[in-house]
Amino acid sequence: MDPRPGEGGEAAMTRPVKCRFCQVPLHRAADRKADEFVWVDARGGQTGPDPDLAHLKPDPYAYLAALAERVVTGTGRGRRVDHAAGREYSALKVRLQSGTWHTHWPDGPGPRHPGPVPECCGWPALLRPSGWYCRQSGKALAQCGVA
Ligand SMILES: [Zn+2]
Ligand SMILES: [Zn+2]
Repeated sequence: MDPRPGEGGEAAMTRPVKCRFCQVPLHRAADRKADEFVWVDARGGQTGPDPDLAHLKPDPYAYLAALAERVVTGTGRGRRVDHAAGREYSALKVRLQSGTWHTHWPDGPGPRHPGPVPECCGWPALLRPSGWYCRQSGKALAQCGVA
């Protein structure tokens, strides 16, 4: 493995970037398994809890149950339906099923590689932790165009 592209790429990725969803500072890390650069928080996680659901802590399901009780109150002629609570209940139920977390996403384009970016097949090459890759063929630059 040629260490130069990785070193250059990681050194370039030091500008502070925040998550556009939860505002935590993010930094670039190399996911060696997927061979991709990823955004991680201070704990090294690629995901975080959704900030707009913070008021549901500590138990979002208890909040949901309390909400359900508010939707219909009373019986007979005293029966009342709280449509706003009903809408909130439906929306929250879906959120809790699909997950109340998000993948951190940078609030800006992120740092750029400082050195010259090689080209292959007419496109700027893609920098991965293990080196440069051709965007057209997906092969490592040294392998691209080699029959
Ligand atoms: Zn985030
Ligand atoms: Zn190529």
